[in-house]
Amino acid sequence: MSARAAKVRATGRGGALISVKQHGSLTASCRCGAVVLEVTGAPIVHTACYCASCQEAGRRIEQLPDAPPILDAYGGTDFVLYRKDRVRCVQGGERLEAHRLKPESPTRRMVAACCNSAMFLDFTKGHWLTLYRARMPESVPPLEMRVMTADRRADVVLPEDVPNYATHTGKFMWKLLAAWVPMGFRTPKVEGVPA
Ligand SMILES: [Zn+2]
Repeated sequence: MSARAAKVRATGRGGALISVKQHGSLTASCRCGAVVLEVTGAPIVHTACYCASCQEAGRRIEQLPDAPPILDAYGGTDFVLYRKDRVRCVQGGERLEAHRLKPESPTRRMVAACCNSAMFLDFTKGHWLTLYRARMPESVPPLEMRVMTADRRADVVLPEDVPNYATHTGKFMWKLLAAWVPMGFRTPKVEGVPA
């Protein structure tokens, strides 16, 4: 698809409506049900990340009392990315607690403190929100790719059911950019989520 065609498709009013209609709304809940997010429309991309930071954060959050699992058998984290203006926290937002690998990091992983469920990763300077697949329903569109696989554990041999990319591939970055165009290059706050 040419860049122009992609832009028309991403910005076209009809396209956006079809996308929302086809995908409707989904909810993501913490394990105990106190925290609920609602997402609308198609995700930007469904990807699993193998970067060292996601592995480290996954291990740390999994060590919280009674925390549900985050990392898959290969040490990856399964994520579904949405535009920030298509996600809102409809219940229990005050229970979300930010976990950062370093205090100054612009990336925070929000955990529902009621039951230590990791809900989403928020790159606070970005226009997208990265939801943990484990908190979402079965009807989420399937995994499209794995990224940052160069950082995977040395013992891991990945399946080849989807493309495995060593880095944040251009295809992934393009999807992020294409989603930003119809947002007017704004970086909105997520409704109902603590700043
Ligand atoms: Zn909970």
